[in-house]
Amino acid sequence: MILYNTLSHKKEEFIPNVEGKVGMYTCGPTVYHFAHIGNLRTYIMEDVLEKYMRYTGLDVKRVMNITDVGHLTSDGDTGDDKMLKGAKREHKTVMEIAKFYTDAFFSDCEKLNIKKADVVVPATTYIDEFIKVTQSLIEKGFAYEAGGNIYFDTSKIDNYNVFHNFTEDDLEVGVREGVEEDTNKRNKADFVLWFTKSKFDDQELKWESPWGIGYPGWHIECSCISMKNLGEYLDIHCGGVDNIFPHHTNEIAQSEAYLGHKWCNYWFHVHHLNTSSGKMSKSKGEFLTVSLLEEKGYDPLVYRFFCLQSHYRKGLVFTWENLDNAKAAYDKLIARLASLLKEKKAGDTSAEKINEFKSRFDSALGNDINTADGLTVIYDLLRSDLDWSAKKELISSFDTVMGLDLIPHAEKKLSEDEKANSDIPDEVKALVEERTAARKAKDFAKADELRDKIAALGYAVKETREGTVITKM
Ligand code: AMP
Ligand code: ZN
Repeated sequence: MILYNTLSHKKEEFIPNVEGKVGMYTCGPTVYHFAHIGNLRTYIMEDVLEKYMRYTGLDVKRVMNITDVGHLTSDGDTGDDKMLKGAKREHKTVMEIAKFYTDAFFSDCEKLNIKKADVVVPATTYIDEFIKVTQSLIEKGFAYEAGGNIYFDTSKIDNYNVFHNFTEDDLEVGVREGVEEDTNKRNKADFVLWFTKSKFDDQELKWESPWGIGYPGWHIECSCISMKNLGEYLDIHCGGVDNIFPHHTNEIAQSEAYLGHKWCNYWFHVHHLNTSSGKMSKSKGEFLTVSLLEEKGYDPLVYRFFCLQSHYRKGLVFTWENLDNAKAAYDKLIARLASLLKEKKAGDTSAEKINEFKSRFDSALGNDINTADGLTVIYDLLRSDLDWSAKKELISSFDTVMGLDLIPHAEKKLSEDEKANSDIPDEVKALVEERTAARKAKDFAKADELRDKIAALGYAVKETREGTVITKM
């Protein structure tokens, strides 16, 4: 498999540390609000990556954190505590908010066919681990205490800006948002490992530590949860592009300072879902959720299909018109599959032809998770002269990666169509058959006459690519 690696800025062959096994870490949600469909774009594309790895026979162990403490409104260490903000908004405790939005997140994931990570760790359950690593970083000379907090000293490492993707200006994160600069920091890029002199008097969640009562910074969570569950050598780390700096940059700095060697080989970043006015974000307050899509009558899998039509390394613009186009394409695909299952048309069953499609799908997904090309292979397969059962089997297998429920949805449509068909009176069915014969004989005058007769009985008849459709008027 070839993957684009943000660390090297190029596509590379993916080679795990241990043959056949993959340790995969995903930054999880900050559970102070519903996930918006932008967040979920990232999780959908990571899900395809994971499923494709499994499809190729790799044994994947995937770990995800739940950020229920430590994430401030700015990705630097400034602004308000996101969890506290959520709790105040809803007049609940932080843990009530965390539980509610964690459950909501997994319920959205289920609707979008996003597999749950093998290990899910709420940050509040790993406090001892954060303290242990912070303590070790102080002992090794990479961290210092100032104003009561513990900071990572970015001047102590050679290559802090590992992704080469930010400038001096970016280091002003937070300051630009009109929040006061933290004067305790020795260097602009330094970040908090542990807040002891809580900047929030009303901080709800606090723990004992060697430096006094406090709570962890956001970045240390992911490093510790990953190292504890996936060991010292991580194969691949995922997130949205906004995580590259400062979050992932800081994760690498502290993990490698702690371990004394390189930590993670591949970095997979999904680009943003944007609206016409810019990046969709929770903090802007206006964002779209899976529940809203459902309220408007969309199957959540239409949104997954919409995401798979584009490459993960390109920004994706959300408009209702774009989603409607995806819905029309998805419905049409399901209708074509339903007619495949209905007609059971015999055809080529040669292993050569079957393997050709397998290898085309592999080339598409194996080339930096090109899901749009993967969909093209499915369309080409449907159009091909392969036997219907081979088509069904291949599509089921490809769908273990794409996660679009293609065959189950087609079977459902087929049985709904059959049920609707059984309600049609025999007289109408006979007229429709007569009309089909007239059309075949190119007797269009007779066909039109029969259509009028069918209409007089209260039914409409329409020719589609998937066959003749009879509907009650
Ligand atoms: P958060 O819950 O804010 O910690 O974000 C969860 C995940 O969603 C992170 O991996 C972010 O990088 C990602 N993310 C945030 N906004 C967007 C967006 N508009 N489009 C795609 N991914 C996003
Ligand atoms: Zn993270």
